[in-house]
Amino acid sequence: MKLEIAHLFPDLLNLYGDRGNIRCMVMRLKWRGIDANVTEYRLNDPIDFGGTDIILLGGGSDREQQLVCERLQKTREDFSRYAEDGGTVLAVCGGYQLMGHYYETKDGHMEGLSLLDLYTVQDSPRLTGNIILKNESLPYEIVGFENHGGRTHLGNVTPFGSVLYGFGNNGKDGREGAMYKNIIGTYLHGPLLPKNPHVCDLLLAKALDRKYGISGLSPLDDETERKANRYIVDRFL
Ligand code: GLN
Repeated sequence: MKLEIAHLFPDLLNLYGDRGNIRCMVMRLKWRGIDANVTEYRLNDPIDFGGTDIILLGGGSDREQQLVCERLQKTREDFSRYAEDGGTVLAVCGGYQLMGHYYETKDGHMEGLSLLDLYTVQDSPRLTGNIILKNESLPYEIVGFENHGGRTHLGNVTPFGSVLYGFGNNGKDGREGAMYKNIIGTYLHGPLLPKNPHVCDLLLAKALDRKYGISGLSPLDDETERKANRYIVDRFL
């Protein structure tokens, strides 16, 4: 068994160690005897959506997002087909904003892919700091770090979690991120997956199910990761 992981535009969307999410996925597959191949796509590389099982988009500054936004528009149909077919996507912060309808800043309007029913408008101050979420279908809290000027407003889409500590989508409605089919969009950097192996396994399980019809992953010894996660929860709540 082998999963193909596509890391989109790592040279542009690379804030706060988002690359660590890729490493975490690869290792947790490897520890279970499952291979993974990672393809890094630069801005103008043609993307093999048909041969991809998991797509990762990280966070970036507004300037870098603008470049990515123009490129993503050209993938609109293929990306949408991939997502509607149950392709797995993890989109963090700037990448998350571009999964929605648009991201409005004082310098202009960035068109998103409209894969998630949400929109984002820039405001100040930036929403920065540690963040803790609860997703009722996951066994542990989700911990991370956020730093965004954008305020995201959800339409008809499920939030990734409810905010126990921190700001989340807009600092007001207590919701963070969004999920649709096998797409997870979130503001959590940090990086997200090594801090939250239960979220990593959720994504891997979705991709393995779609490709091989496998349900359930063999457990790993996550004692250290759980202690670290718990430490953050106890520190802030
Ligand atoms: N540029 C976006 C914002 O400030 C996203 C930032 C990020 O990816 N950390 O809202």
